[in-house]
Amino acid sequence: MTSPVSADLFARAQQVIPSGVNSPVRAFGSVGGTPPFLTEAAGALLRDADGTEYVDLVGSWGPMILGHANPQVVEAVREAAGRGLSFGAPQPGEVSLAEEVTRRIGPVEQLRLVNSGTEATMSALRVARAATGRDVIVKFAGCYHGHVDALLAEAGSGVATFAMPGSAGVTAATAKDTVVLPYGDREAVSALFAERGGEIAAVITEAAPANMGVVPPREEDGVGFNRFLAETAHAAGALLISDEVLTGFRASREGYYGVDGPTGAEDAWAPDLMTFGKVIGGGLPVGAFGGREDLMALLAPAGPVYQAGTLSGNPLATAAGLATLSGLDEAAYEVLGSASRTLQQMVAEALTTAGVPHVVQTAGTLFSVFFREEPVHSYADAKAQDTEAFTRFFHAMLEGGIYLPPSAFEAWFVSTAHTPEVLDRIAEALPRAARAAAQ
Ligand code: PLP
Repeated sequence: MTSPVSADLFARAQQVIPSGVNSPVRAFGSVGGTPPFLTEAAGALLRDADGTEYVDLVGSWGPMILGHANPQVVEAVREAAGRGLSFGAPQPGEVSLAEEVTRRIGPVEQLRLVNSGTEATMSALRVARAATGRDVIVKFAGCYHGHVDALLAEAGSGVATFAMPGSAGVTAATAKDTVVLPYGDREAVSALFAERGGEIAAVITEAAPANMGVVPPREEDGVGFNRFLAETAHAAGALLISDEVLTGFRASREGYYGVDGPTGAEDAWAPDLMTFGKVIGGGLPVGAFGGREDLMALLAPAGPVYQAGTLSGNPLATAAGLATLSGLDEAAYEVLGSASRTLQQMVAEALTTAGVPHVVQTAGTLFSVFFREEPVHSYADAKAQDTEAFTRFFHAMLEGGIYLPPSAFEAWFVSTAHTPEVLDRIAEALPRAARAAAQ
């Protein structure tokens, strides 16, 4: 496929933007080739600067859960824009958005809005350290929590895509306070708490890891991994931060907490703090962190933890987030679930027919495809997949007009605009891509 306009834009971009992109995975570094420069999107479809149309399975990495340019969301933003772009002062939309989130997600008693998932996790760590008076943060290999210094060690997403151990520029002092454990390894968690429990401020985990591909937490003796983490942390006076930036409002109406949260009063457990992003902003820059009221009360101005933002609670962003959450009713989750299941089956069938080892893993309506036979339970498992087969598959899909995440370590994102007709277009492209993967 030749894309002269995108190629020219990429060449120009590389002159003035590092690697030509504003976020690493967009550069197609691990799959090679020129990224299409996108100019328009509607529903499940994208158009690039050369006029080529694609079915989108990236969804801007999650936010576009109602499809692109959803009329209700666009109208809400247009209407808000007409009343002023930013006030830097309280405005009604922030209240409505926080009320909607606290209604949906039990453990969130109070919520503060920020501008990205990174800001949300960064701020949650600060609150956890202030609340406990401790420094150490425990994270899991393969979990990505944004580009927060303390959380870049063995992170997923772009850090996994480019096989980086972490990031240069993070001080030794910062890295020293982060302990990285293998995901799902209860013995390692218990051993660490036995040895250093009194130093640990918080454990942070993706509610269901989805930045090394989708790796749902597993139950043991009827106790899910997230609940085990909450109980282990609480027994040592530490906190659990559940990162739902990616799974929030996507894995289910209540995010992944709606999938593995308590089933009754006797089963009660909750993370202390939760973080959100992506869907909560409907495509505009919004993140949020929230949780127990006594913890959130630590924030300035009432409390001693400083946290702020010129554009936080921006009226356009809250309008887009509210319109998106309003569109996410039970019927929308059924459409999403059905599109996700159909696509999973189609991909599995095509890869099986072509004899390509693969495993599809899900967390609620979220899923990803690993190019290996055995299930993936950890980052080490995720890395032991055939990324070259993925690369061949990726390029054949792109040639067939299907825009996949350009990395074997990312989830695939469907939207309520992925209608049966759209899925048929994906079905047409799959057999050739599966054969390419098999070569
Ligand atoms: N946490 C998780 C689980 C994420 O998936 C991401 C982004 O992919 C982030 C945090 C960071 O969010 P942002 O890219 O908005 O800073």
